[in-house]
Amino acid sequence: MDIIVGKIWLLVFSLLVLMPILYCLIKVENIAFNVRVVAIVAALCNIVFDIVVTAASYYQQTLINIYVLMLLWQLSLLFSAVTAFYLVLNELKEKYLRYDMRNDWVYIVPSIFEAALIVFFNLSSYAAADVSLIDMATSISLYFIINFYILVGAWLCYKGYLYNLDFDIKYIARKHFYFFLVMCVVLFCQQILFNTIDFGIVVTIFLVYNYMTRSRTLISKDALSGVNNRVSFNKYINNAFINHDHGPAYIVFFDIDKFKAINDTYGHLEGDEAIALVGKTLKSVAGETNSFVARMGGDEFVLVVNTESEERVREIIQTITYELEERLIFSDKQYEITVSSGIVRVEPNARNIKELISKADKLMYLEKQSKRTGAVNGNY
Ligand code: GH3
Ligand code: MG
Repeated sequence: MDIIVGKIWLLVFSLLVLMPILYCLIKVENIAFNVRVVAIVAALCNIVFDIVVTAASYYQQTLINIYVLMLLWQLSLLFSAVTAFYLVLNELKEKYLRYDMRNDWVYIVPSIFEAALIVFFNLSSYAAADVSLIDMATSISLYFIINFYILVGAWLCYKGYLYNLDFDIKYIARKHFYFFLVMCVVLFCQQILFNTIDFGIVVTIFLVYNYMTRSRTLISKDALSGVNNRVSFNKYINNAFINHDHGPAYIVFFDIDKFKAINDTYGHLEGDEAIALVGKTLKSVAGETNSFVARMGGDEFVLVVNTESEERVREIIQTITYELEERLIFSDKQYEITVSSGIVRVEPNARNIKELISKADKLMYLEKQSKRTGAVNGNY
């Protein structure tokens, strides 16, 4: 009885944890059906079937055929593993192997084979009237498929390492390659030591989840300045403005003034430090004001502030200027860094974001020019 109560507890707990995630996925991506949703639903079904199987065998009831229940349990387990790995492998391809656009449904093929195998094992254990056979079969076949996916993941990372020219991506791909190998060894040891598939699945899903969040932050960040990169800026714009109804916001474009002079006078390494310093400053101000910041490349940054008031945006820019000065003093730099900025307002539910971005760029350029003419008059 305790086991059943424990499992029901687990179900309630999982529902509590998974429902907000499910809700966010549907709301954020605005689609009611995607692989992530299937993965979560399959994981929930797995727990439900597990409870029903335990309850049915506890009460030794004959109303529902235990073999049918076991089959449903196994298939939901297989489904959740396959969907989780499908997401990971696709993400790996998108990150590392953009040129390789072949159909990824090939990843599903071994799982169809697995499903057939599981049905076959079920039938034979039904014929032999031995339920314990099913457990063993599930364990072996699921381990087989999980190891298969992990090795495919390792192979994709290795290809990413070989074929990418970008050094940062190469470095991350190599890290993930080792990560997959370690995961393979961990699962192998777990299989030898415990031989319980549920535990193995939990370990794997934890590691996969860990991988996914880590890879997201690593790949969406600009390595030098530590803020978001251009790719995640585009993603953010699509998610927050283009595909959704939204409130008013401001986009601010920044460019460091006379940055080439820092490079020329103090060298490229010092120039890199200056970019990192601006990145850190923007990041800390963005963190305090709940804004989004990204480096667009070179000495250009962009800030998205979700607010009604232009006044507030001007305050934020002022804070950035003060904080930059402070940081320069604290880090003992002998040069000054100032930035020029261009502000545009994004009207509620506006979709012309790309035009607005180029307008902000132009306004920033105008400010730069006015500073230059000011310099001719002795103010710059
Ligand atoms: P302006 O006031 O018109 O902005 O002049 P500027 O000197 O800042 O010129 P601009 O913004 O056009 O040029 C940016 C320069 O930044 C060009 C390039 O040499 C340098 N740069 C771009 N990326 C990096 C980088 O990652 N590190 C370093 N050290 N320099 C970079
Ligand atoms: Mg510049």
